[in-house]
Amino acid sequence: MNAEIIGVGSELLLGQIANTNAQYLSKQLAEIGINVYYHTVVGDNANRLKDAIHTAQKRANLIIFTGGLGPTKDDLTKEAISQLLGKPLVTDEEALQSIELYFKKVKRVMTPNNKKQALVMEGSTILRNDYGMAPGMAIKVEEIEYMLFPGPPKELYPMYENYAKEYLLNKLEVKERIESRVLRFFGIGESQLETEIEDLLENQTNPTIAPLAGDGEVTLRLTAKHADSNIAQQMIDEVEQVIRQRVGPYFYGYNQTSLQEELMSALISKGKTIASAESLTGGLFSERLTSLSGAGAVLKGSIVCYHNEIKQHTLGVSSDTLHNYGAVSTQCAKEMAEQIRVKCSSDVGISFTGVAGPKVQEGKEVGTVFVGISVAGRETTVHHLQLTGSRQAIRQRTVRYGCHYLLK
Ligand code: ATP
Ligand code: MG
Repeated sequence: MNAEIIGVGSELLLGQIANTNAQYLSKQLAEIGINVYYHTVVGDNANRLKDAIHTAQKRANLIIFTGGLGPTKDDLTKEAISQLLGKPLVTDEEALQSIELYFKKVKRVMTPNNKKQALVMEGSTILRNDYGMAPGMAIKVEEIEYMLFPGPPKELYPMYENYAKEYLLNKLEVKERIESRVLRFFGIGESQLETEIEDLLENQTNPTIAPLAGDGEVTLRLTAKHADSNIAQQMIDEVEQVIRQRVGPYFYGYNQTSLQEELMSALISKGKTIASAESLTGGLFSERLTSLSGAGAVLKGSIVCYHNEIKQHTLGVSSDTLHNYGAVSTQCAKEMAEQIRVKCSSDVGISFTGVAGPKVQEGKEVGTVFVGISVAGRETTVHHLQLTGSRQAIRQRTVRYGCHYLLK
């Protein structure tokens, strides 16, 4: 199946919004083995939309539309397609009922144009909209599959996941199931990771292994095809095992997780609390943790100790340390981590000190970073990093390294 995705909406052409629906759908379709050959964008204009459809009909056997299913005058996707395919619009009772119910619930009077949202092409399969009013639809006409989705991503994504994906899987000639799993790594560069698994990358067929780097981490997407999805999962398990034997220490989680989420669940499952002393990061570490629900159970507190006087008087770093070694030093990071743990009575104390730039500080290069970790009954460890990048990048990566060291 070769697909073309047509984004309908003048706001796309005006640059007011990016075509993230096409990006999302392309990714999803790739996962189930459908090739997307074209992305087209057209404004809210029936004639130009029809032109775009004529072009797509010559080069695709799956044409997907997003946007323009709503109640207003500029929402004309359905009407244009219905005319072109000669499939009249009829009211879908279930959609109409749910629209009526919605208006009753919000105690508003339903206007006639809202009824328009319950219109669907005769003979089409309805893709239910659990998060909005206009249903999506799918219809096959003369060997071409047409699928219509609403514009808002919060309606489109669940519609695809819950209804459209199954529809497409049933249509695919090969009744193979496609399973995939993303492995996330931190602290290893893309080229090093690829070198470690070079032979696997060269000989991959099923499952396939796709590396992707970005945001300071590397991911591997493992995708397996098999008629039985359990077997596909087992095939992925086997490859994962080989990969983790080689680069296991850098692996931290699956799919959409993040270092801070993994850290949070690790602390919760061990019943441990943490506190942070943050100079370089200015509270970014505790911000990352508090953005997750459940933070109250693990994060006891944090001191942003940017000036040395706060490091000394509020946190309790000795003046000798600040005087002899400076704030950007192993000794200072060590004391910061120990002091914050004691001050907050937490199980773990973490500290961040360093030079974010743009200028050299205490004779130390931009990107010099020390992360201290203090755990009761254990010797405090301090990690020295030499990072590159902008001020913001250095601070963000420092926090990620902090989570990475804690997870070890
Ligand atoms: P509504 O019922 O909300 O009017 P609709 O199906 O008619 O939905 P549009 O009117 O075309 O869709 O777009 C509604 C909103 O959906 C846009 O303002 C935009 O925020 C979002 N949207 C539309 N198309 C895209 C796209 N291709 N990528 C990302 N977001 C989009
Ligand atoms: Mg609209």
